[in-house]
Amino acid sequence: MSSEIVALYPEIEKLNIARITGSKIYSANLHSLERRRTDNLYSVIVDRLDFDDLIRNIAVNKGAELFDKNLSYDFVKKEGKKLGVKTKTPEGIKEYYGKIIILADGMSSKLAIKSELRSKWELKDITVSKCAIMEGENKLDYDLFYVFFQSYMGYGWIFPLGKKRFNIGCGSTTEIASKVNLNKMFDNFINNQYIKTHYLTSDYKTIWSGSYPLAINGILEKSLFSDNLLCIGDVAGFVSPITGEGIHQSMYSAKAAAEVAVNALEKEDYSKDTLKAYRNHPEVKNLRRVFKSLLRLRDFFFEENGKNLNEMLERAENDLEYREKALNIFFAK
Ligand SMILES: Cc1cc2nc3c(=O)[nH]c(=O)nc-3n(C[C@H](O)[C@H](O)[C@H](O)COP(=O)(O)OP(=O)(O)OC[C@H]3O[C@@H](n4cnc5c(N)ncnc54)[C@H](O)[C@@H]3O)c2cc1C
Repeated sequence: MSSEIVALYPEIEKLNIARITGSKIYSANLHSLERRRTDNLYSVIVDRLDFDDLIRNIAVNKGAELFDKNLSYDFVKKEGKKLGVKTKTPEGIKEYYGKIIILADGMSSKLAIKSELRSKWELKDITVSKCAIMEGENKLDYDLFYVFFQSYMGYGWIFPLGKKRFNIGCGSTTEIASKVNLNKMFDNFINNQYIKTHYLTSDYKTIWSGSYPLAINGILEKSLFSDNLLCIGDVAGFVSPITGEGIHQSMYSAKAAAEVAVNALEKEDYSKDTLKAYRNHPEVKNLRRVFKSLLRLRDFFFEENGKNLNEMLERAENDLEYREKALNIFFAK
């Protein structure tokens, strides 16, 4: 994730983080574009469990009350009005009441469906990815993360995690992954001849691996709020349609929702007329605009088996002026 998150939560510095200031992207026919940052922005790689723990503890230290081992599954309703949520716990069913309910339970949110704000994701909205942490001799530059766009809609990545370790993975739409098989796609990626020759030279030990779905067709603009209800993060599709990054986008959506909720509490008005300010909050408005461009860019990149991206990166290799433009497209903040 970007160093902007570290600026928001400097406590992250305490974790074992790897800082990376550059990136190298490849098109399907292996033309490449590399950027090394000279400003003070960078990317950080952090263990997800450590990060989630830290963020949760920051919330608790600020006064949030934590109800661990509670799985929300439905709303508490009275005369059609949502008064709170019901959860399953080791001690049985519990109910929690609130003036405003913020759904933050990720892409598989049960409550988003129950709220009728959105239906289940359609397969076309979902990508799947397989990733692993591996160890072995390699020729990776520890100051770069690598992205390999494919000829189909998807990409593979390698993030170095120190001298011998790296995080490697690939993902694509469910439609493509079901035809090719995700495990096979992953094996093809790590055994790709170019990658073997240039980066991953020896046998590798798998420390951990897993496969995950992600909804990446943009923000669900019609599913962001209703009476005393707000949806943030993956619940509402705050995930970059090209890279699948969603941590800082989720945080910005959360910040916007919190500001709108505070205002509604002050006004003592939790109706959708007040909560609609969330959709128009500058952070959310900006993300909606950016995501729309990214969706158009994604379609353009992958047209005709990645032809446009191939041509862009090939031209950027040979034309310095065009290279600057391409860098702005890929790495603009
Ligand atoms: C393989 C993979 C790699 C990724 N890599 C990156 C990356 O490098 N950078 C980046 O920025 N983003 C990345 N993302 C996306 C990023 O993980 C998400 O966009 C981000 O975590 C969304 O945050 P969230 O809080 O909305 O949802 P989540 O992080 O999914 O959090 C939801 C929380 O709700 C809890 N929960 C779920 N159901 C219930 C329930 N019924 N009751 C109570 N609690 C519940 C879960 O336990 C979880 O703690 C990646 C995603 C995947 C799948």
